[in-house]
Amino acid sequence: MTVDLRIPAELPAAAEAYAAAGIKVFRVRRNKTPYANCVRCDQKNSQYIPHRPEECRCGVPTCHGFWAATTDVDLVRRWWREEPDANIGAPCALNGWAVLDIDPRHGGDKSLAVLEQRVGVLPGTVMQLTGGGGLHIVYRTPGISLPGTLGPGLDVKHNGYILLAPSLHGSGGRYQWSGHGRFLQPAVAWPAALTPQARRAA
Ligand SMILES: [Zn+2]
Ligand SMILES: [Zn+2]
Repeated sequence: MTVDLRIPAELPAAAEAYAAAGIKVFRVRRNKTPYANCVRCDQKNSQYIPHRPEECRCGVPTCHGFWAATTDVDLVRRWWREEPDANIGAPCALNGWAVLDIDPRHGGDKSLAVLEQRVGVLPGTVMQLTGGGGLHIVYRTPGISLPGTLGPGLDVKHNGYILLAPSLHGSGGRYQWSGHGRFLQPAVAWPAALTPQARRAA
């Protein structure tokens, strides 16, 4: 599906726009504390029923963090009506993405330079500025498990989630897509040179 979205400036409208475009989103609190699971999904509760989050059938839409992410526009509208300031989270693999997360505060720019010396310049794709000086480089997921990190300040977000523009970064800046604020569904595959198999062969 081709997605080319102009992202509204307000979080509730933006969350709805993503969901309507088929991107799974969920609420993330500013302090990142998760929403509570229901008693049947809470491992510390006596009524807990053992199950995998991705197979949950409890029907409570906030259980299991990013596993609750949805493209249901009505539900998304309700979530952000309840909490208009909630940031917009998007699970990476569940949306078909594998994301290089570069945090210069922890040396991510240097790690990227070292990586590109080794494997060559990475193919250009969709990018997001994090609002805290960081950068997300968004590729299509290769559909296999990936390492969590490729060096100091250079993480791989795949099983986890990222925040989407115009979410507010802890430093006070806002997340922003680099292409004039437009979001394009990434068409470029995760570089084969960054898969564990390729790393072992190197
Ligand atoms: Zn539940
Ligand atoms: Zn559950």
